[in-house]
Amino acid sequence: MTKLTKLSRSIEGRVVLITGAGSGMGRATAHVFAEAGAKVVVTDLNEENVDQVCSEIKSSNGTCFKQLLDVTNQQNIDQVVSAIIAELGQLDILINNAGIAIPVTIDDKNYEESWDRTFDVLLKGQVNLIRASLPFMLKSSCGRIVNISSTEGMGATPGQSPYTAAKHGVIGLTRSLAAELGSQGITVNCICPGPIRTAMTAGIPEEHKQIYSRRRVPLKRYGEPEEVAHMTLSLCLPAASFVNGAVLPVDGGLSIKRA
Ligand code: NAP
Repeated sequence: MTKLTKLSRSIEGRVVLITGAGSGMGRATAHVFAEAGAKVVVTDLNEENVDQVCSEIKSSNGTCFKQLLDVTNQQNIDQVVSAIIAELGQLDILINNAGIAIPVTIDDKNYEESWDRTFDVLLKGQVNLIRASLPFMLKSSCGRIVNISSTEGMGATPGQSPYTAAKHGVIGLTRSLAAELGSQGITVNCICPGPIRTAMTAGIPEEHKQIYSRRRVPLKRYGEPEEVAHMTLSLCLPAASFVNGAVLPVDGGLSIKRA
């Protein structure tokens, strides 16, 4: 009988660069890709975290390559991309995940500084990584970019306008580049995580997490980093070949719930 399905669900041997991979969703994403047979480039600011994630992956027989990377430093970005090409010969997938959250009200004396830092990490960092990776990703038979936004990119919470504005920007960037790069064989998609248990939310007391989840999240809980990581992987499969410019909430239903 003729086989009806032609598209592969394997990313074996693909090279994936993940930013902010030393913690939270980036770490989970590194693990999920390594388990699927990808060559994972674990990058982050903190050497100890990068070493730790790489040794976790290696102890599960995964393949990984570690690099220290500050996404606000153009020279560092260029050097990391060059090192990947020198060591692994290709770059197929970019996961723009690194992030910070600085709560700040509009009248705060440090507002401008918070705005600049937030935009440098969350938005300009993604742009700069894409620009540096693009020449190599264009040579891939399966170029994939996934940008991590947030449900804050689709709505808003008071007291964090730089974060909210930058995450809205990530969605605009994703859509624009999906339109621009699609014809060159690279898909660009975006994930909007809802509340996820990571270092970023670790300071929120458990009781507040539960109250928030009961009121706002149809699944009545915070998500786990791995639940986001699996959606990221799905968008990078060869079989996801017609998914481009998508903005996908991974939020337990938060974004569709009324009051
Ligand atoms: P996380 O555990 O704090 O991980 C973020 C990682 O990014 C950390 O390892 C951090 O390093 C790194 N980072 C910060 N600044 C960087 C820079 N300049 N260059 C490179 N790496 C940098 O938080 P997470 O929740 O997994 O966050 C991952 C992404 O999801 C972020 O884009 C975040 O905005 C987004 N998000 C999170 C949630 C949530 O509820 N957790 C919800 C929606 C969206 P250090 O720890 O060393 O600073």
